[in-house]
Amino acid sequence: MPYLHRSLRPQLHPVPSNARTVHSSGQSFEQLRQGCLESGTLFEDADFPASNSSLFYSERPQVPFVWKRPGFWQHSEWLDVVIDDRLPTFRDRLVFLHSADHNEFWSALLEKAYAKLNGSYEALKGGSTIEAMEDFTGGVAETFQIREAPEDFYEILEKALKRGSLLGCSIDILSASESEARTPFGLIKGHAYTVTGLDQVNFQGQRIRLLRVRNPWGQVEWNGPWSDSSPEWHSVNPEEQRRLGHATLDDGEFWMAFEDFKTHFDKVEICNLTPDALEDSALHKWEVTVHQGRWVRGSTAGGCRNFLDTFWTNPQIKLSLTERDEGQESCTFLAALMQKDRRKLKRFGANMLTIGYAIYQCPDKDGHLSRDFFKYHASLARSKTFINLREVSGRFQLPPGDYILVPSTFEPHQEADFCLRIFSEKRAITRDLDEDTDIDLPELPKPTPQEEETEEEQQFRALFRRIAGEDMEVTAEELEYTLNAVLQKKTAVKFKKLSLLSCRNIISLMDTSGNGKLGFEEFRVFWDKLKHWMNLFVQFDVDKSGTMSSYELRTALKSAGFQLSGHLLQLIVLRYADENLQLDFDDYLNCLVRLENASRVFQSLRVTNRDSMHLNINEFIGLTMNI
Ligand code: CA
Ligand code: CA
Ligand code: CA
Repeated sequence: MPYLHRSLRPQLHPVPSNARTVHSSGQSFEQLRQGCLESGTLFEDADFPASNSSLFYSERPQVPFVWKRPGFWQHSEWLDVVIDDRLPTFRDRLVFLHSADHNEFWSALLEKAYAKLNGSYEALKGGSTIEAMEDFTGGVAETFQIREAPEDFYEILEKALKRGSLLGCSIDILSASESEARTPFGLIKGHAYTVTGLDQVNFQGQRIRLLRVRNPWGQVEWNGPWSDSSPEWHSVNPEEQRRLGHATLDDGEFWMAFEDFKTHFDKVEICNLTPDALEDSALHKWEVTVHQGRWVRGSTAGGCRNFLDTFWTNPQIKLSLTERDEGQESCTFLAALMQKDRRKLKRFGANMLTIGYAIYQCPDKDGHLSRDFFKYHASLARSKTFINLREVSGRFQLPPGDYILVPSTFEPHQEADFCLRIFSEKRAITRDLDEDTDIDLPELPKPTPQEEETEEEQQFRALFRRIAGEDMEVTAEELEYTLNAVLQKKTAVKFKKLSLLSCRNIISLMDTSGNGKLGFEEFRVFWDKLKHWMNLFVQFDVDKSGTMSSYELRTALKSAGFQLSGHLLQLIVLRYADENLQLDFDDYLNCLVRLENASRVFQSLRVTNRDSMHLNINEFIGLTMNI
């Protein structure tokens, strides 16, 4: 079936009903409009005023601009951006984007809304057309250098048109002076054309692959083979001519042979649209899944594979490809990784980070992959480069199976929010491997009857007696004295003096009898844990610094039975690590005591076989206040 995609003037999508309002008043477009209608005034946008602050954040304007009067998508959700109709002008001409027709303002208004979303007009500088195309449509852009395009490029373009994707093509320029220069074939260099159709015709006993291209000027056309009035058309039967809509019209639109297209054009950009941006139900749509995530210094900002010690801490996303493409052995998908809000942060000095991703074969066992996995396994595929663009996307073909995708910044410790979108030909299942918290704690030891105690246990009882004194209960003061004395002897462990408050915390967490002191059994449980945690601390302090880095902590916690979600790990690092992302032993101990206690409470109160529990207000306050 031939497929013709009529006009590719930028399509303005009706705002989906689920669009989020971003105006500071909290009012939607309809509410703001109603307010203006009722008061009989024109809308003035206080969020993005008609002043220089909306135009620039760093440069002072060279000329006095006069502001005159004449639904969007960002990061995977539709935003409803409300703007007023004041536009920056100079000598009665629009300063920024404008249409050839001076009474046509949609493009300038669209640009204003886009500028508002990004903070100012200047924040847009250096952004590519394709970025704006993505923001207006919610799609994912791919760029093909035609010289390096894959063998099935014609099929890729055909499928793209069938999916309703926006296709742009252009001829590279070597210098600014070449911009908009006309070639002898009537093509304009450095100019953004659109590909609007693709078909095949019978010509002298051969099937010829044709491509229809549009010059958005609405004039100036290709004059080579298959152009409007070229002789090739005389050999095509009238019915096929009609089907292709062949007409000799100087409307900017023309056909050319695919082979000529490859010779004369240099670059094709495809903006792949998400199903919610497409109205036409007849289109073949991509299957899309979206993951929102975050690189946080000290927990999930691991950097690229060059940094083996931290790479494994990056977010990991499992991708299961189950269905092959129609008539193919493998599964096609696009993976697009976007860093969020960097343009908006530009005025605060934030630049685009260098980002990318790698794809690995998933091993049989489930769960977040560790450092050793990446040490011994090479990636199957990667984003083409790590690059400081807002979005990095790539097209892949892999056999059905399970894969792990690791998105990262190039350097470790760089923070940003990201959005990862997978566009697949057939449905793909994705799962964030860092969402799950899985806690596996050993059974608490049973008390041994005193008459059956081993010699070692008897020694421990004697120790307890010395610490606890006559009342045979350890108070916070007694614990403070003992713990500090023990830790002082451990040279492999750095610690700050444990305060009375921390010891009170330990007691209230270990005190199952509820008398505010530790009896022999309570103390024994705590002491066993302390020894175990101390051993883990020494074992996982890989660089022997005497402190636990946030990354060392993650493996130590896992070994202690705590597999925590990415989000919990981020919070723990924020709460317990110092500015160099290190934890002394006392921080580590506090963290583990609390984690262990919270986990035990959860295990005893959880609804059978469910990951939830029910608490009334008294239980909740008692637990969270740790009293
Ligand atoms: Ca034409
Ligand atoms: Ca007690
Ligand atoms: Ca260390």
